[in-house]
Amino acid sequence: MASRLRGSVELSETQQLVQNAVRDVCTDFDDEYWRTCDREGEYPAAFVDELAAGGWLGILIPEEYGGVGMTTEEVVVMMEEVAAGGGGFSGTQAIHGTIYNSVPLVKYGSEELKAELLPEVATGEAAVQSLALTEPNAGSDSLSIETRAERDGDGYVINGQKIWTSRVDQTDYALVIARTTPKADVEKRTQGLSMFLVDVEEAFDRGTLQMEPIEKTASNAVHAFELWFEDLRVPESALVGERDNGFYQLLDGLNEERLVIAAECIGLGELALERGTEYADQREVFGRKIGTNQAIQHPLAKAYARVQAAKEVVYNAAGRLETSERTDGGVQANLAKFLAAEACHEAADIAVQAHGGFGVAREYDVERYLREARLTRLVPIAQELALNYIGENALDLPRSY
Ligand SMILES: Cc1cc2nc3c(=O)[nH]c(=O)nc-3n(C[C@H](O)[C@H](O)[C@H](O)COP(=O)(O)OP(=O)(O)OC[C@H]3O[C@@H](n4cnc5c(N)ncnc54)[C@H](O)[C@@H]3O)c2cc1C
Repeated sequence: MASRLRGSVELSETQQLVQNAVRDVCTDFDDEYWRTCDREGEYPAAFVDELAAGGWLGILIPEEYGGVGMTTEEVVVMMEEVAAGGGGFSGTQAIHGTIYNSVPLVKYGSEELKAELLPEVATGEAAVQSLALTEPNAGSDSLSIETRAERDGDGYVINGQKIWTSRVDQTDYALVIARTTPKADVEKRTQGLSMFLVDVEEAFDRGTLQMEPIEKTASNAVHAFELWFEDLRVPESALVGERDNGFYQLLDGLNEERLVIAAECIGLGELALERGTEYADQREVFGRKIGTNQAIQHPLAKAYARVQAAKEVVYNAAGRLETSERTDGGVQANLAKFLAAEACHEAADIAVQAHGGFGVAREYDVERYLREARLTRLVPIAQELALNYIGENALDLPRSY
């Protein structure tokens, strides 16, 4: 990819190291690989294994637990690179659960849990790929979740339903958010929720967890599921962090998740722009390259400007996350996610338009980028909810949700 297309953000030495190493992995997986994964609904296992072999799944896990011990500043480079290197959003979605789930585990997990689990996560031997928060009656309004975890002797029993939980077919453990104190008994809706690490295989074996895949049209290589917990018993040690404080713990992971996904949007936007620009510089109509026409050139240039502007915000927010106070970190993460998803969608849309009829031909890939870019405006939170957060916390307007 032309270096100018990857823009102006200056990388530190460590960031360059990450970029080069991840780029090396990505070059082993060509467009046909990603096209096939999408068409066949196949998880990109070979790609994930190669990243794991390089230790990259443990990028946020401290060295003392076998990880690379890097920070969000390096993760954004890694995720941008995976998306821009051809993987798009599905390439990054295949791995990002492990990355952002490691944040609450490192921060709030018991010493015993960390010593046992994190070294295996870092090498890819054990996967904590899934985060089960969303429910049929609680998507954007995540504080209204109804899944309950009730005390039972020396453990908890979980009952309820989740929806859209990604990668349950590719994980050993899932982080599950459940209510431990009824909403009616807490002062604030944010209280009374807890985070549990659930051994997925054991739960399936005991028949206390059922799942159904959800058919969808974007990021087909990575599957999302509806889950049912029926009297799923977990030991006390499955509780991550403090009982009833899970929402606040989750927020740390969610800010990370938003920034990680914002960086993925930047990479996907750059990838789409690269393909759109290449085609505009080759295809001749009316005896001249279509890129000569401002009707094609300007939308590409505008999308480039927006992707690069969003990239500055994403990198800046990533650099500040560790030291930011939680709400400020939330504003930065939501700004970054909002801008990056809009820019990425704009870039993918003009890439399709520049391809004319081939814009919808699978072999040119841009239609896949557009489907994925559209999805980024819905996840991990819909754009409207990012704006709600910014309105409330950056503009001090009344809370609207
Ligand atoms: C492919 C995919 C993978 C996912 N993976 C996961 C996962 O791994 N784990 C997980 O827990 N969840 C996951 N999700 C769920 C995702 O986080 C939710 O879909 C998202 O938060 C939106 O919730 P919802 O779908 O219930 O939409 P709703 O909350 O029903 O909202 C519908 C629309 O109304 C708008 N809206 C609602 N309320 C307001 C308001 N007050 N102000 C303005 N607009 C509003 C929303 O912005 C949206 O456009 C995934 C979703 C998808 C599609």
